[in-house]
Amino acid sequence: MSDRPVLLLTNDDGIHARGVSVLREALLPLGHVVVVAPTREQSATSHSITIDRPLRHIQHATDVHSIDGTPADCVYLALFEPRFLPRRPDLVVSGINHGSNLGSSVFYSGTVAGAREAALRNMSALAFSHAGDLAAPWLGRFVHDMAERLLVADKPEGHPVLLNVNFPSQEPRGVRVTRVGRHVYEEQVIPRMDPGGREYFWIGGKVIDYGEVPGSDKKAVDEGFVSVTPLALEPTSPAHLDLAAHVAGPRAEPLVW
Ligand code: MN
Repeated sequence: MSDRPVLLLTNDDGIHARGVSVLREALLPLGHVVVVAPTREQSATSHSITIDRPLRHIQHATDVHSIDGTPADCVYLALFEPRFLPRRPDLVVSGINHGSNLGSSVFYSGTVAGAREAALRNMSALAFSHAGDLAAPWLGRFVHDMAERLLVADKPEGHPVLLNVNFPSQEPRGVRVTRVGRHVYEEQVIPRMDPGGREYFWIGGKVIDYGEVPGSDKKAVDEGFVSVTPLALEPTSPAHLDLAAHVAGPRAEPLVW
């Protein structure tokens, strides 16, 4: 058996999205590339998994599959159903998302969740998002080089790396390591009436404000840089341990951190 790296690819825009084929073409020179992506678009499905219905599988070509579930479903199935991968992958890559995933979008994004599902299972993971033209000639080179550097890098034991990468719409002026900024959407609800006379709603508006977070992902992309944000998997908040102890009450045992 070959010792070439094994790379698992997914996305949240669906198997037919341009972004995943750009990603696959960029990464094919690095090893054995297997795509397991959602059959249909799953943007903003966050880290949901499907447990209330069966998941259907379509094989589109050798090493190209789709699952009618979420990005997290795709990664889960690819990792634990042996037909998809020759072995445990060396790197899991999600994207390239059609549109950016900056600020609090990292919580809603299916693209980031696809990568996070792998990181939660102790694998190195990359999420790529791009607000501009997916045919841009520089895009594949950045994706290839970053994936290659992560593959060969020394990685901290027991701390799987999850990197969220966003590209600016034009050819980058450079690359910055950033942190997650703020991302404020218009808080919008649009009530409408369907042809049967029943009311329905659209929620979610445009981005109206990113706030001023020094070193943020959004600032880097706005200034024409590629943004690379390392995302933590540890959700416990050290800033609130005292408050949690207060709320827990006088008999609560404190956390030994
Ligand atoms: Mn998407």
